[in-house]
Amino acid sequence: MSALDQLPPLREVIARYDLAPKKSLGQNFLLDLNLTAKIARSAGDLTDVSVLEIGPGPGGLTRSLLAAGAKKVVVIERDQRFMGALEEIAEACPGRLEIIEGDGLALDHRSLVSGPVKIVANLPYNIATPLLIGWLATERWPPWFQSMTLMFQKEVAQRICAQPGNKTYGRLAVLAGWRFHSDIAFDVAPTAFIPPPKVTSSIINLIPKTNPAPCDVKKLQHVTKAAFGQRRKMLRASLKGLGGDALLEKAGIDGRLRAEVLSVEDFVRLAGLI
Ligand code: SAM
Repeated sequence: MSALDQLPPLREVIARYDLAPKKSLGQNFLLDLNLTAKIARSAGDLTDVSVLEIGPGPGGLTRSLLAAGAKKVVVIERDQRFMGALEEIAEACPGRLEIIEGDGLALDHRSLVSGPVKIVANLPYNIATPLLIGWLATERWPPWFQSMTLMFQKEVAQRICAQPGNKTYGRLAVLAGWRFHSDIAFDVAPTAFIPPPKVTSSIINLIPKTNPAPCDVKKLQHVTKAAFGQRRKMLRASLKGLGGDALLEKAGIDGRLRAEVLSVEDFVRLAGLI
């Protein structure tokens, strides 16, 4: 039996440290270690990999990442109350868990991890999308991480993985689809969390594409914001401020179409022309 297996059950840790969940920090905990192990497995082989986890909370997923053989796990947690519980995990795996108390949105993640890195997290829902956009828009390619395995509200997960023509296809799908292969691994029912959120969640995997078309991410964000901001309109109207018909003609796109039928490549072409 490893020292990790000898750690007390999470419920006991939560009671001992008096860790009542705070809604303002998006605290919905996973206490079922079979489920956290399934999330860790979904990230693939973790041997010889450093894992970055934002929002470890009491550390259920953290334990599973370490048990799955991650060489190192670096966690960023904003809530100081979890430090004691996380320290206990660190003591069970000397040198393998680094705990950073801070705001996951404010820190430069790349500088905190080295070697092959995977990002795995049950993200706080209130900062999940800005965190994802930061990772999607990472400047250098290939990026500093090999993959991302992330929990989102199911509706957001569907928007990230959506294909053209689908009603959930929009800015997030284009931004993700430009440089990542993404898919929903499995759904997680509200009852799996303490406290249960109102909606179902999903685990998604995002794997960087080897050769995404070169594109200025700011321009891609600009053109998708305009196109999907008025998604019911024809593109010649929604993109009027960016060049309208003339721009669409240059890109070889029919101005009578709506944003939701354009492919990711169409948007990349448009971004290259503005
Ligand atoms: N990983 C744990 C689990 O699966 O049980 C907890 C997940 S809970 C959905 C989100 C965690 O993110 C909470 O522990 C919360 O305190 C933390 N958190 C919220 N905002 C944060 C931020 N800005 N930076 C780092 N952690 C944050």
